[in-house]
Amino acid sequence: MKFVQYNIDPAIKESLEALGFRKPTDIQYKAIPSILKGEDVLAIAQTGTGKTAAFAIPIIDRLLRKKQPHVLRCLVMVPTRELAVQIATVFRDIAGHTHLKVLGLFGGVEQNPQAGALRNGIDILVATPGRLFDLVHQGHLVLDRVEVLVLDEADHMLDLGFLTDINDLVRKLPTRRQTLFFSATINDRIKELAYRIVKKPIRIQLSPKDPVSKNVDHAFARIGMDDKRFFLEKLLKERADAKVLVFVRTRLRADRVSAAMLRVGIPSLVMHSGKDQADRLQVLESFRQGDSRLLITTDVNARGIDIPDVDYVVNYDLPDHPESYVHRVGRTGRGLKRGEAISFVSPEEEPLLDAIEAYTGTEISERNIDAESYRLTIAETEDTPHDNWRKLLEEADAPSKKRRKKS
Ligand code: ADP
Ligand code: MG
Repeated sequence: MKFVQYNIDPAIKESLEALGFRKPTDIQYKAIPSILKGEDVLAIAQTGTGKTAAFAIPIIDRLLRKKQPHVLRCLVMVPTRELAVQIATVFRDIAGHTHLKVLGLFGGVEQNPQAGALRNGIDILVATPGRLFDLVHQGHLVLDRVEVLVLDEADHMLDLGFLTDINDLVRKLPTRRQTLFFSATINDRIKELAYRIVKKPIRIQLSPKDPVSKNVDHAFARIGMDDKRFFLEKLLKERADAKVLVFVRTRLRADRVSAAMLRVGIPSLVMHSGKDQADRLQVLESFRQGDSRLLITTDVNARGIDIPDVDYVVNYDLPDHPESYVHRVGRTGRGLKRGEAISFVSPEEEPLLDAIEAYTGTEISERNIDAESYRLTIAETEDTPHDNWRKLLEEADAPSKKRRKKS
């Protein structure tokens, strides 16, 4: 079935046509009719399968059926600021030929323009919890007309860091509302929490056993912690045209890996939660636009971010939470595209690899590096690690010696 055959507002069809969305994806095919009927839905489908439009299309249709002055009728909660921007853009794209007004609301930027936009009236709000609550508490935002609540990345939104906020939020919403949960990953504990905030039994669309996107070829290689940068250098030089997203464990490591790549002539963008928000948005936009082909980042970009032409994901470090693996490698292979992912696994990270395999229920294939090519990779680096390390050590040592003398 094509979108033209759907019983949805012609203005939506026009936008879908312009976006090049002719046929629904599997999750859209399954979820849209239920959502149109007003049912509560818990939808689990692999990364990159079009979950955003799966809720945006029927929500927009619902809002169009009953024309109202601009009041907040749909609230979408997301875990990160960049995701608020992205999901708001999808709503805006699909509702482009309608009167509906959409706002992305997130912290780290000035609040006044957001409060101003809210005062002018909006219909659909895509928000991160922190800023939403600030504005609610200051009286800029009333939630008593909300008809639809969406938790995107639902398992994450119901996880410890966000759960109290979400529970508080749900208490402020009308009890008669539609509630939608979307994610690529879920577990039984989270499912139980999700059931608690909906009244009616909810429908479940389940993905296949393996939650990793079938469009992603993923493998791991055994590499010592201190050698990882040489292997990243080699990969980036071999794949000089590829658009590559590299995940590391910490903000500090993101900066360090970026510096190491620069030493060997490979510039990169860095993005993590330690950067100011204007930077974060700009970096992601530069990567999206292709100004730079390499982005080194933390798990802040593991979920939801949709940059369709990412060719390669590198897990420079393995994530602590197994589900993050599924989300990280899901930043490639989106829509109909295929993608590749490789994880660098040091001996101390092997328990994390076991945990990921237990979680996905599959064995991740190993890309064997024989001793000779391992040795060559290190020998062929353009970095001068020993000199650099000596200099760094001297620098690090100098001030501490001074301090010691003083005391
Ligand atoms: P998910 O949330 O499932 O990870 P997204 O909603 O971010 O996936 O969508 C992934 C990509 O698929 C986006 O680039 C989006 O534009 C594209 N897409 C979504 N629905 C369709 C469709 N029906 N036809 C073609 N492309 C689509
Ligand atoms: Mg998504």
